[in-house]
Amino acid sequence: MTQFSPDAPARAHSFTLSAADDGLAALGGWREYPRVQQPTWPSEDARAQVFDRLRSAPPLVFAGEVDVLRSRLAAAAQGEAFLLQGGDCAETFADSTADRIRNKIRTILQMSAVLTYGASVPVVKMGRMAGQFAKPRSSDTETRDGVTLPTYRGDAVNAYAFTEESRLPDPQRLWETYTTSASTLNLLRAFTGGGFADLREVHSWNRGFTSGPGYDRYEELAGQIDKAIRFMDAIGADFDSLKVVEFFSSHEALLLDYEEALSRVDSRTGEIYGCSGHFLWIGERTRQLDGAHVDFMSKLRNPIGVKLGPNASVDDALRLIDRLDPDREPGRLTFITRMGADRIRDALPALVEGVRDAGARPAWVTDPMHGNTITSSNGYKTRRFEDILDEVVGFFEVHQSLGTVPGGLHMELTGDDVTEVLGGSGHIDEAGLERRYETLVDPRLNHQQSLELAFLVAEMLSR
Ligand code: PEP
Ligand code: MN
Repeated sequence: MTQFSPDAPARAHSFTLSAADDGLAALGGWREYPRVQQPTWPSEDARAQVFDRLRSAPPLVFAGEVDVLRSRLAAAAQGEAFLLQGGDCAETFADSTADRIRNKIRTILQMSAVLTYGASVPVVKMGRMAGQFAKPRSSDTETRDGVTLPTYRGDAVNAYAFTEESRLPDPQRLWETYTTSASTLNLLRAFTGGGFADLREVHSWNRGFTSGPGYDRYEELAGQIDKAIRFMDAIGADFDSLKVVEFFSSHEALLLDYEEALSRVDSRTGEIYGCSGHFLWIGERTRQLDGAHVDFMSKLRNPIGVKLGPNASVDDALRLIDRLDPDREPGRLTFITRMGADRIRDALPALVEGVRDAGARPAWVTDPMHGNTITSSNGYKTRRFEDILDEVVGFFEVHQSLGTVPGGLHMELTGDDVTEVLGGSGHIDEAGLERRYETLVDPRLNHQQSLELAFLVAEMLSR
């Protein structure tokens, strides 16, 4: 989201709030297409009530902010900026507390300071936050001790507790998704506009790193940042001017009727914006070319992401470009690749080359999380820090060898001291996972692992 100075471009826009607006009629076409990963709400009446309420609720983000983000992503696609997108796999209502949200924002701001200083590149800061409440699942059911129940689909749909009642989809949860997103965004706007991002905090960041294989490489960079900030502080540099930062929200646009209910027509241009978040992406499981998600997203003005796994073909990518970015507008489309450390060096080059040779210029971003998920011998869904890092290294290698642009990082992380990912300088081992494994879906880097990764990426970016 952008700074809210009086002349911020958001002021130039207003939305037609009525969902009955003819301008929104075009959006409904997705219902003609096959749709996957959508809940079946138990009562049509209850569903309709919530959707009416959402349709007349204020937008969470504004057209001017979304337009600014598109221009930032255009810069990332050209190598003039770098996207840092991070947050939980699945936000939860219970964990949307001031402390947890602050810790996540702080982590992203710290990582971006490391990247900016280490690589002299502006960082586009984006949370997987304020809307990441719905999850696609590989299986519709889950069995525990011989009992089979519907799977947990994120707090937007049902509850995690393993009982029949809690796993029933409840449309009231969509209203809570909206209000929780709104309170999260409120805090985000306050923190990023009100001095929280103070860079003088940098002193403390490298304290956590006392050993580990990557230590020497980032220790020097951390020391340099520290020194630069002390110098600026000592000469009385204007830290106030650094206090306001741009920060954008994003989530997977999974629940199409929720996304539709939060779409608004920009009264200035007549164009449709998804107003549940600045950046919306289509997941690996919902990117069917003839499916409802691609159709729906093709009609929104927001910058759009699409996840691409190791089996995505050049043809898939080109057809997605034709559907989602027919005008090949800078910043409109971001491909988020999630290949796995063992596949990226084989699978990514052909995709990037095919897209480049067709004259398209999407931003290429790496998600080094989703292709590297394993189960530990003691039964935890986890990832190895070294695999995550290896996929990022592979991503840079591929782009370097092709002369194309590595545009950013998409991470599952938290600002807390959880133990969900193996390794890092904290040496979390399988037994260590038991200490503080809190995620309800996928494992996240903790605060220290996130910073460690940022230092290592800064080094690659500056080469
Ligand atoms: C996710 O980002 O949490 C996710 C489900 O990713 P993907 O669609 O790439 O599997
Ligand atoms: Mn995930």
